[in-house]
Amino acid sequence: MAQPRPSDPGPRAEVVVDLAAVRHNVGLLSRTAADSGAATMVVVKSDGYGHGAPDIARTALRSGASWLGVCTLDEALALRDNGIDAPLLSWLHLPDEDFAPAVAADVDLSVSSHAHLDAVLDGARRAGRPARVHLKIDTGLGRNGCTGDDWPDLVDAAAKAAAAGRCEVVSVWSHLAFADVTDHPVTDAQAARLDAAWRHARDRGLAPMRHLANSAATMARPDLHYDLVRPGIAVYGLDPFDRPVGESPLRPAMTLRARVVNVKKVRAGEGVSYGHEFTTTRDTTLALVPLGYADGVPRRMNFGGRMRVWLGGRSRPVVGRVCMDQVVVDCGPDGGSQVREGDVAVLFGPGDGGAPTAQEWADELGTIHYEVVTGVQSRRITRTVVGENV
Ligand SMILES: *Cc1c(COP(=O)(O)O)cnc(C)c1O
Repeated sequence: MAQPRPSDPGPRAEVVVDLAAVRHNVGLLSRTAADSGAATMVVVKSDGYGHGAPDIARTALRSGASWLGVCTLDEALALRDNGIDAPLLSWLHLPDEDFAPAVAADVDLSVSSHAHLDAVLDGARRAGRPARVHLKIDTGLGRNGCTGDDWPDLVDAAAKAAAAGRCEVVSVWSHLAFADVTDHPVTDAQAARLDAAWRHARDRGLAPMRHLANSAATMARPDLHYDLVRPGIAVYGLDPFDRPVGESPLRPAMTLRARVVNVKKVRAGEGVSYGHEFTTTRDTTLALVPLGYADGVPRRMNFGGRMRVWLGGRSRPVVGRVCMDQVVVDCGPDGGSQVREGDVAVLFGPGDGGAPTAQEWADELGTIHYEVVTGVQSRRITRTVVGENV
């Protein structure tokens, strides 16, 4: 049996984040935005889609982005604690959260209702400075944001607070429902509603920016760039239109990989993993890779027996059920000469040489690549950053 290679230890399981890819993607997105006179906010919610928010934020700000976007106050304050002082918008809050620390830390706050505005203004009073607010209008996503009916009341209250020096209304903004479907009629209706909401705010004496575009709209709808675009997924190199690697101008930043903990020869007719869903049909070599559903490899990933990993210079099938901590790879009768304990198996990555991608996982799972990369957040996976230097 092959021995581990002490000269090449490496972590047991690893998410590798390629900041050179992030630089490439942000450069491309921010140039596209700049062509229409828009600034770029890179969205780093959910720990930078699982890639590590501070590293992504710092890299993005050096690559053409000037704003950051997050979901929660904790995410915003964690970036400030990491010394990141760029304009930063946080947008999903409870009305009874304490907004004073965020206002004090110069975090812009999205507001979707009169109650939220009051809570933010109360935080501003306690912080001793005006809040920077972005008024969110629900233009048709049917999710967060003020309804058209309640908009005049919200704008009224915000205008009064602005006149009293208690807040600055930085933007009127919204989020698209069909950005990944090019030229969907709902997108145009949403833009028209945003424009009307913005005009209403202007009529009340405010001078806000407008922003609407996520990754897909940043790439495909320059007419909707307005003052600021908010790409997320494309920053991480995953194509919002699901174009395969090679056809997409983006480069995936995340690689999930792990080292083989065990290689063994087995005879034909042996059952593999729980429930023996797979039985060897020939004498073969099995390799054990220490990643499972507790690490973000969904159990249903191998229900059709189509999961594969890149190992020993080629793509190889995962056989049997995905377990909590491990999967079994069938390396074939000659596997013992090609795969050794300690070798690195790539579960997904940029797809170099035909290795699996997050997009392929999403297709297999009937989901989107967003869910694949944000799902990999286990504490026992080492996060390694590469490509830091320009
Ligand atoms: C997540 C998010 C984005 C980024 O969307 P992508 O599709 O990842 O580009 C932009 N705006 C808001 C409000 C979001 O929640």
